[in-house]
Amino acid sequence: MKKALITGVTGQDGAYLSKLLLDKGYEVYGAYRRISTPNFWRLEYLGIRDKVKLIPFDLTDSPSILAAIKNFEPDEMYNLAAQSFVEASFDQPVATGDITGLSVTRFLDIIRQIKPDAKFYQASTSEMFGNAKQFPQDENTPFCPESPYAVAKLYAHWITKNYSQSYGIFASSGILFNHESPIRGEEFVTRKITSGVAKIKAGKVSCLELGNLDTRRDWGFAQDFVECMWLMLQHRTPDIFVVATGENHTVREFVEKAFAIAGLELGWEGEGKDEVGKEKRTGKVLVKVNPKFFRPRDVDNLLGNPAKAVEHLKWNPKKTSFEDLVRIMVEADLKREQG
Ligand code: NDP
Ligand code: GDP
Repeated sequence: MKKALITGVTGQDGAYLSKLLLDKGYEVYGAYRRISTPNFWRLEYLGIRDKVKLIPFDLTDSPSILAAIKNFEPDEMYNLAAQSFVEASFDQPVATGDITGLSVTRFLDIIRQIKPDAKFYQASTSEMFGNAKQFPQDENTPFCPESPYAVAKLYAHWITKNYSQSYGIFASSGILFNHESPIRGEEFVTRKITSGVAKIKAGKVSCLELGNLDTRRDWGFAQDFVECMWLMLQHRTPDIFVVATGENHTVREFVEKAFAIAGLELGWEGEGKDEVGKEKRTGKVLVKVNPKFFRPRDVDNLLGNPAKAVEHLKWNPKKTSFEDLVRIMVEADLKREQG
């Protein structure tokens, strides 16, 4: 039986990847951060909490990385743990650099010393492309990171390639574009929208406040994307792959779709002003723009080209459409609100 170590097992991708590997017959070791209140709700949501062997671990703590690898000798390691929220990285740039960037060197160097035959996957991100000049973005697009998060991820990306080339470790990076699901954190815009819509429908709140509505993202379904992580480690050689759907939409389009699926009539703040500029009572639900949710710098337009993953890994980027993704998320949040 193959053994896999997944860091960030309490996160969205950690939970979906655990499920996928358990279904494939792996023994799954889930490395989690020991915080005051354990955060296993995603594993519970997928019904696998008792099947994953949970081990305490912190990416900033080398002895805990060493213990995880030495004690369990995993064949495959998936490094999904990170401070993963772009907005928070502007408030905590040093911690983000340490956790999301430097820790990957800690991890890889321990692999080099005690388990050099293991395969390693690094969770790279489309944010590394930033405001790229090339559309769509692929494995050869120059990087232009626009946040402390993206800078830290770029360091992690390069050190992964460097350890692979310098020491012959099987270390691959997936440059994943945004991927979402009903277990996405509520601080990310898609889940903020779908849970907001469900709360409005339930009469708990009257409006949704968002930041920049015009940015475009290539949004896919997390359950489909984790399959590509696994495929990368089954490939003949370590490599770098863009994982994306090849289609993008604005935040505004996501909002419109989510409201329509929930059967709510959408009203934008300001659209119902009378001649003296006062808000007219339209009776519609309002989406308000709050400057608080704008970032010091944003990435305007991300669009990935998954051709290499399609050709070499036989991965299907079109398994779940944009419409289906929004529907899956809205319906799950409506169900949650109904208890
Ligand atoms: P989440 O934010 O849902 O999960 C992040 C995980 O990292 C959590 O389990 C968190 O633990 C853990 N973590 C944070 N800090 C530490 C630490 N110091 N030591 C150990 N664990 C820690 O992210 P996703 O599942 O969405 O993403 C998985 C990976 O893929 C991340 O690296 C992310 O940056 C990257 N990525 C994600 C994309 C997306 O669209 N989802 C796109 C591209 C890349 P805790 O529960 O304790 O907070
Ligand atoms: P990111 O692409 O990793 O930063 O994922 P997010 O889901 O956090 O943000 C996606 C885009 O939505 C960014 O361009 C944000 O500026 C934009 N956005 C607009 N309003 C909001 C909001 O209220 N919260 C978040 N998280 N993002 C928002």
